[in-house]
Amino acid sequence: MANTKPTTPATTPVTLIGLGPMGQAMADAFLKAGYDLTVWNRTRSKADALAERGAHVAASPAEALRAGGPVLLSLTEHAAMYSVLEGAEADLDGRTVVNLGSDTPAASREAAAWAGRHGARYLTGGVMSPAPGIGDPSMSTYYSGDRAAFEENRALLEVLTSTDFRGEDPGLAQVYYQIQLDLFWTTMTGFLHALAVARAEGIPVETITPYIIEGNDMAGFFETTAAVVAEGRFPGDEDRLAMGTASMEHVVQATRDAGVDTALPEAVLAVFRRGIDAGFGESAFARLITLMDKKA
Ligand code: NDP
Repeated sequence: MANTKPTTPATTPVTLIGLGPMGQAMADAFLKAGYDLTVWNRTRSKADALAERGAHVAASPAEALRAGGPVLLSLTEHAAMYSVLEGAEADLDGRTVVNLGSDTPAASREAAAWAGRHGARYLTGGVMSPAPGIGDPSMSTYYSGDRAAFEENRALLEVLTSTDFRGEDPGLAQVYYQIQLDLFWTTMTGFLHALAVARAEGIPVETITPYIIEGNDMAGFFETTAAVVAEGRFPGDEDRLAMGTASMEHVVQATRDAGVDTALPEAVLAVFRRGIDAGFGESAFARLITLMDKKA
């Protein structure tokens, strides 16, 4: 039977393993909220400032696991979890592990099964916030995995960001998270590329940026494209892939003329040309999704 005695932050233990920029921000949030924080990090010196502020610094990962509360991991990837907890598996029994690091959905499912074999409950967390946003409830984190473990630790997790429990599949939070990063990194790389072309053409970054923001209602484009994809019909009455392909050819050539690296627009053009080769020239651009999604 779980201990349901009401606790206050000061008497609520929480362990945090991993003190990169994200772990540091999380430790800061727990200390500010008055939690009884235990930390461990491979590079011990990163815990020094936290120790001065009252955090316990465990001498080993096993000691960190034994501190009593949920064990939050903020590590580069899941391989680091195995490497840190190797040899401390016996101390996982009865613990709740919340892995807030990035990896693949399959790696998260495997990690949950591994933790389960050692008697631990497991939650995956996909943190949708940069480190400075930790502690801000307008930021959110996707969670999935053990529902009871989530509910019991919800208040504690909400010290970091708001929470959004997506379901009991431990891979699911990672699916949501990786989809967001897929879009984030491809979009942001496109943005950097646009800035590079602007700068090469003598337009300062400060001048072009408001034009880029104003000229691209991405949320609106996402909504209209999603509606087309959901319907699954791609008539080329508003836009045709043949037009998009000609447009991307102009982008590649303009990039080349500006003396800027063409790798990114050429990669996009290659996808468009596959659509043309598949006979989609007279269809809407959105039909390209049928080349990406093998189930379609
Ligand atoms: P870092 O990669 O800078 O640091 C992560 C931590 O992992 C450090 O404590 C590092 O230890 C530890 N680590 C890495 N490999 C090993 C290993 N083999 N053995 C032991 N410890 C290891 O990442 P962040 O702090 O920036 O991020 C942590 C996680 O949060 C990542 O998965 C990231 O994708 C995710 N995230 C980060 C965001 C950000 O803005 N920073 C935003 C959203 C999510 P040591 O100090 O000894 O090197």
